[in-house]
Amino acid sequence: MPEYKVATIPADGIGIEVIAATKEVLAALEFQVSGLGFSFTDFDWGSEHYRKNGRMMPADGLERLKAFDAILFGAVGAADIPDHITLWGLRIAICQGLDQYANVRPTRIFPGITPPLRNCKRENLNIVIVRENTEGEYSGQGGRSHRGFPEEVATEVSVFTRSGVERIMRFAFQLAQSRPRKLLTVVTKSNAQKHGMVFWDEIAEEVSRDFADVTWDKELVDAMTVRMTLKPETLDTIVATNLHADILSDLAGALSGSLGMAPTANLDPERRFPSMFEPIHGSAFDITGKGIANPIASFWCAVQMLEHLGETEAAQKLMTAIERTTEAGYLTPDVGGTATTREVTDAVIESLDYKRTVVNLKS
Ligand code: NAD
Ligand code: MN
Repeated sequence: MPEYKVATIPADGIGIEVIAATKEVLAALEFQVSGLGFSFTDFDWGSEHYRKNGRMMPADGLERLKAFDAILFGAVGAADIPDHITLWGLRIAICQGLDQYANVRPTRIFPGITPPLRNCKRENLNIVIVRENTEGEYSGQGGRSHRGFPEEVATEVSVFTRSGVERIMRFAFQLAQSRPRKLLTVVTKSNAQKHGMVFWDEIAEEVSRDFADVTWDKELVDAMTVRMTLKPETLDTIVATNLHADILSDLAGALSGSLGMAPTANLDPERRFPSMFEPIHGSAFDITGKGIANPIASFWCAVQMLEHLGETEAAQKLMTAIERTTEAGYLTPDVGGTATTREVTDAVIESLDYKRTVVNLKS
């Protein structure tokens, strides 16, 4: 088994706290799975790098990342720098620059967590959202002109290419096919957006012909918020555009208890470049430095990374440890507990050793 070279980019706010915790957990996992090894290289890119150098990462940043097997990313965002600079300067720059076109966002309710919706049973929410990650509404096309004049104009152009839509659709059908229910919901807004979204629907239809065993349906994005909230049991795999899936996956995170539980894999399915794993939450100014950031989203990212690297046994071991931890009541305040990041991290590390019983906080 190789030693994996992992680039870590903790970046800003609680990103720094949760990535430090994730490295500890992965280091502990090395002792539990024979032959598994990681070498981490930390990059100090982010808002502090921007304040010093006028950019979020160095000009050769992407080139340097290409030497790694995977990237663990924290979060970006600082109160004194506009959000579009921090986001485009680092996260989107990496996703687009390394063509990580499939953004995969699983959601479920972990044992021991009380979901915010009274009627949402644990077994009823088990979905994975596939987000198109390189074009659509976030293609970066558009502009501003006549600044300051009454005729000032801004455009934000959505770009849908046949190759871009086809590859994400194919990825989503394949993922749906690999899951027990073989069920896919294609999200659009093709009633109001009659060009790009109709194109999206047509390509879904075309690609579906290669997946006869996958049951699929369509939902408009506004109706989808209702269905996710009231009938999550009718959903399994979901595919949507960059913007739509961005919004729907925050909702999914909330349904599972907290944004602090929700992970993301930014995948290059063709494996030309390293893929990047990051919690979906941001830098969370309100809790930065307090030691109470929920690290579970980042731990789940590590599970996604292990799965992507083909380390199935290690991935399962870590997932089981996370479940044992939440079940035993080690929960940060965002999911109704009083535990610190440190305590949750220690409990996961302890739970990795199946022979040890984790002290149940509830008993
Ligand atoms: P946020 O995700 O940082 O926080 C939203 C709320 O969720 C806050 O109350 C926060 O305390 C809570 N929260 C988020 N993650 C948590 C965790 N792990 N544990 C406990 N509580 C958690 O979103 P925001 O407040 O809208 O944005 C803050 C900054 O983060 C902004 O600058 C924004 O641009 C940036 N942002 C970055 C990313 C990213 O890096 N991918 C994503 C979203 C927001
Ligand atoms: Mn988002």
